[in-house]
Amino acid sequence: MASIQNITVLGATGSIGQNTLDVIRRHPDKYRAFALTAARSVEQMLADIAEFQPRYAVMVDPQAAQQLNNQLPPDGAATEILSGDEALAMVASHEEVDQVMAAIVGAAGLLPSLAAAQSGKRVLLANKESLVMAGPLFMQAVEQGKAELLPIDSEHNAIFQSMPESYTGELSAHGIDKILLTASGGPFRGKSRDDLTAVTPEQAVAHPNWSMGAKISVDSATLMNKGLELIEACFLFHCLPEQVQVVVHPQSVIHSMVQYCDGSVIAQLGQPDMRTPIAYGLAWPERVEAGVKSLDLFEIAQLDFMPPDEISFPCLRLAKEAFAAGGTMPAVLNAANEVAVDAFLRQELSFTAIPDLIEQVMKRHAVQQIEQLQTVLDADRWARNCAQQLMTEESL
Ligand code: NAD
Ligand code: MG
Repeated sequence: MASIQNITVLGATGSIGQNTLDVIRRHPDKYRAFALTAARSVEQMLADIAEFQPRYAVMVDPQAAQQLNNQLPPDGAATEILSGDEALAMVASHEEVDQVMAAIVGAAGLLPSLAAAQSGKRVLLANKESLVMAGPLFMQAVEQGKAELLPIDSEHNAIFQSMPESYTGELSAHGIDKILLTASGGPFRGKSRDDLTAVTPEQAVAHPNWSMGAKISVDSATLMNKGLELIEACFLFHCLPEQVQVVVHPQSVIHSMVQYCDGSVIAQLGQPDMRTPIAYGLAWPERVEAGVKSLDLFEIAQLDFMPPDEISFPCLRLAKEAFAAGGTMPAVLNAANEVAVDAFLRQELSFTAIPDLIEQVMKRHAVQQIEQLQTVLDADRWARNCAQQLMTEESL
């Protein structure tokens, strides 16, 4: 690997972004934060500029960029403050950048993640939504841009680590029977649909094992996160949904597994700490220290496994149906989910209405094939409008 790697961190102020900066902080001889981006968290960005002195800081919101500029101390002058979506794409594809951590939440991550792939960067992909929305186009951009795609989602990182290094994109060619995608089950595991009607955003974001941003925490509670991850796995590892089995494993110690035809199952284990997959992606094929405490198996003592409950948590089924429908349907699923989760967090929609709303939007969608990015963006916009309209029309 070249001397010091220049890193762009998209979504630097978020949960993955801050964990990425923590790994970078531990290895100033290996990694440099070249550009940091955020939507509007001025305070966090100010602190990160002071510490990491990046060349660029992008605030997508122009007012936040203005505020940041006003508050920048004189020694912050080494950092150029930019704003807007074009600036995001610029720092994701800048010729001096080696690696891009794609950690913006939701559909907003698609265009800058694609820009990184098209320009041949090592893409550390946390933003699973971009693969769900535009999987075929994203994988094509990786291939055409000669990018390196390394999964940061802990499950996909575990699968990557459990696969042969020579993996060519065909499970059977490597004697792989199936992928075992683990799920914690979230904070409401074991609850019936009736138990779930009155749950609050506070309860939903209180994940038992992981500390994450609000949107993915709610996705974990509905099991939509596992649905999105199933689609993500199919694109990343070029396999069929039938070859991916979801296994609920409440301790979140095994991060996923690969089952081989000779009866072997290879797993990756670790603390529920995203710095492990982040450090793995940054250093691959080497390893660097990540600040993660080592696993104490005697403390864990027990590992449990059970099938997912698709009756109480219909989002997993909806994601499978969206992937089976193909074309624009996964983008529609994703967009409707973003609107529903946002409304739930604002207490405008109940927890159990999240899957209901998504299903209603999916039912109204006429699937289109996605040869063009614009088709995906149009489907995303259509689904958001449809979900908003349904929320005002119906008492979901
Ligand atoms: P977060 O909410 O903590 O942070 C999101 C970041 O994106 C912030 O920096 C925010 O400023 C930025 N952002 C938000 N809206 C934006 C917009 N419209 N345009 C540009 N930037 C915007 O989220 P997170 O938990 O860090 O998750 C980030 C991504 O990583 C998600 O796609 C999530 O599914 C994935 N992921 C997260 C975890 C985790 O442990 N947090 C694990 C696996 C995958
Ligand atoms: Mg995950």
